[in-house]
Amino acid sequence: MKELIRGTTKIYAIIGWPVAHSRSPVMQNAAFQALGMDCVYVPFAVEPERLSEAVLGMRALGVAGWNVTIPHKTGIMSLLDELSPEAVRAGAVNTVVNRGGRLIGYNTDGTGLLTALLRDLDCSVKGERVVVLGAGGAARGAVAALGEAGAARVTVVNRTLETARRLADELRPHLSELELEIVSSEELSRLLPQTDLLVNATSLGLKGEEFSGLELALLPDAAKVYDMVYGPRETPLVLAARQRGLAACNGLGMLVAQGELAFCHWTGITPAPGLMSTALAEVR
Ligand code: NAP
Repeated sequence: MKELIRGTTKIYAIIGWPVAHSRSPVMQNAAFQALGMDCVYVPFAVEPERLSEAVLGMRALGVAGWNVTIPHKTGIMSLLDELSPEAVRAGAVNTVVNRGGRLIGYNTDGTGLLTALLRDLDCSVKGERVVVLGAGGAARGAVAALGEAGAARVTVVNRTLETARRLADELRPHLSELELEIVSSEELSRLLPQTDLLVNATSLGLKGEEFSGLELALLPDAAKVYDMVYGPRETPLVLAARQRGLAACNGLGMLVAQGELAFCHWTGITPAPGLMSTALAEVR
């Protein structure tokens, strides 16, 4: 039966700039429909300089909850009433819950990454030596979650070294057990032979771009590669890693896992396993 939007329908959303590429409406609406909930999830393209107006509007309209994507994950933090410990640690919010008019910010990217690593690469992270490429919002969530999950060492490599340094300075106080270091792209080759897991948290690969200077041949044979980019099913990095004989996968599993967690924050219900990924596979 076709679902109807009624006077009682609750609105959920995703805000970003741009937002048209987002796959989240497909999987979130599939979950609402499968559960027979009177809810709808819509994309809102919010220009970078209009974020505070948008949040005021969401409050006024009583939007029940929303996801936050590039470039608003950090900027939205000061506009909310409360932040979860994960959001504070990561310094980024990707999920907002409107609890009776009070806006609470969460970060489900980090836990989503850990879930995907376990599901897709059988990788529990504990005791592992990890290299994270990138130092943006996604990398922040990743480093915080990897540290919490007991990684032995996390090394961040970023095009702009200063951004990586800022990430480390802000996260270190929250991750006292973790050996967290920053290296330049030139130093990366020295580290690769002592790496168990390589995570791409840059946007490289979305348009088919290759990494220059990343020598996958230097990784140990048992190393694993996780690419957060999920546009192409086999991103250039995933393809190169598989050709090298390494276990590798793209970021679709993380997208699903962070979306399942966001849904649970909004509704208290965890969608059935496979529901969101099946919806994504059906609608290309
Ligand atoms: P962001 O905050 O804009 O950060 C982008 C990162 O990519 C920065 O570290 C940036 O380096 C780096 N970068 C961009 N262009 C580059 C280039 N040409 N060469 C080298 N580095 C480059 O974005 P984000 O939110 O962290 O997202 C990063 C990626 O993760 C995106 O592709 C996003 O779609 C993906 N992601 C996936 C999921 C998932 O569920 N699978 C969740 C979140 C994000 P600089 O600091 O030097 O600019």
